[in-house]
Amino acid sequence: MSREEDIKQIKKHGFKSFKPERHSYIDENGQGWLQCKFCCEYQKVDSGASYITCSKCVNMIDMIKHPDSFVTKQYKSTGRPAGWHFMNEYVDKDGNVFHKGKEQPELKGTLKPTKVKPPKKRKKLTADQKLQRDINKWKKRKKARRGKK
Ligand SMILES: [Zn+2]
Repeated sequence: MSREEDIKQIKKHGFKSFKPERHSYIDENGQGWLQCKFCCEYQKVDSGASYITCSKCVNMIDMIKHPDSFVTKQYKSTGRPAGWHFMNEYVDKDGNVFHKGKEQPELKGTLKPTKVKPPKKRKKLTADQKLQRDINKWKKRKKARRGKK
């Protein structure tokens, strides 16, 4: 996907209706070749195919169409907590050991996987708890003021 005009077309009409002119030929072995719809690189094809999308472009389209799912997929695939590569020692669920993000292959399987604590959720306070909290704050403030005098 290099040409600006092509990209405009795709944005306007979607990927499916994008049918640009692409060249095809059959080599001396009878193998058909067709340009990728998007990047124009020649790909092997069975005879009869009129349009093809190479695997590179398929991936790219996938990313463009589903950027969110791609990100979450990637994120989930590591299964590592944020900042794991800053930890002095981190062991993933497969037993791979990392020291500050550097893999230590000779230690693999010798340590227990690091337990990842889920991020703390803030509890929602009930009205009563809020009141209690405010009273405590007020008491503390009062004490502090007294202490100064
Ligand atoms: Zn392509």
